[in-house]
Amino acid sequence: MADMTGQHAVITGGGSGIGLATAQLLRGQGAQVTILDLADGADQAAARIGAAFHKADVTDETAIESLAELLEAHTPPTILVTCAGILQRTLRPEVLSWGEWDRMIAVHLRGTYACCRSFGGRMVKRRQGAIVTIASVAGLGTGPLHGYGPAKAAIAHLSKGLAAEWGPGGVRVNCVAPGFTETPALDRGLSAGALRASRLEAAAALGRLVAPQEIAAAIGFLASPAASGITGAVLPVDAGYLVAGDWAAYGGLREPLTDTP
Ligand code: NAP
Repeated sequence: MADMTGQHAVITGGGSGIGLATAQLLRGQGAQVTILDLADGADQAAARIGAAFHKADVTDETAIESLAELLEAHTPPTILVTCAGILQRTLRPEVLSWGEWDRMIAVHLRGTYACCRSFGGRMVKRRQGAIVTIASVAGLGTGPLHGYGPAKAAIAHLSKGLAAEWGPGGVRVNCVAPGFTETPALDRGLSAGALRASRLEAAAALGRLVAPQEIAAAIGFLASPAASGITGAVLPVDAGYLVAGDWAAYGGLREPLTDTP
């Protein structure tokens, strides 16, 4: 297990799901963790794992800038993980409202950019830092998520650009693209009937959903000194969802052979 003593990780959306699993992992490895989230109960989730908490909306760049300044003056953050995110309904473009589309871009793309700008800019001045952004398989392939998908594709692109921009300043930027992951957000999608667990499982080469702790493990690795040579990577953690898709043209994934041919 990595020793992250002396590190200070800021995790947006850290009050739930993937962000909370990442916060738990990094706390267990000895890091100081600060969670930024707007959900009710996120403060209690932070308290339960010994993390600091600030109520914050990542779309409010002025508030994010103030928080970055505040934390810099106390314990400068060495890690930023941008997990804040929301679900989109699978609506056709003809009926998807501008409000919902704008919100997808604002929370995911603008929110990620605002956090990277405020926290990453300060890391560059100190010539030390690791950023892990969160995209999605929805941004690497296509699906009926016409705001969420493009926003996630843009996050992967942004992360590569920032990796090149800030590499000379000693800051690494990588991106994790989760597949369907068992979090409260996915539970809401399943309960609403927009998604079916059996279909999601069947669409992945490993035949299952991803656990939040599996995403956290990839984030933790990319944020750690063990990944000191990696920047600008976009890493799918998707139980083989992306590699399985093209097999539909051949009738889908095959059952494993039980006998040696
Ligand atoms: P989650 O359990 O809902 O956690 C996300 C947290 O972010 C929630 O506490 C949420 O609060 C908070 N949040 C939402 N908007 C925010 C804002 N503007 N400012 C600050 N915090 C905000 O979701 P998750 O499934 O862990 O998702 C985490 C990230 O992974 C998201 O970026 C998501 O798009 C991505 N992802 C998830 C999956 C999946 O299958 N779960 C797959 C691919 C990518 P509220 O509950 O109040 O909204």
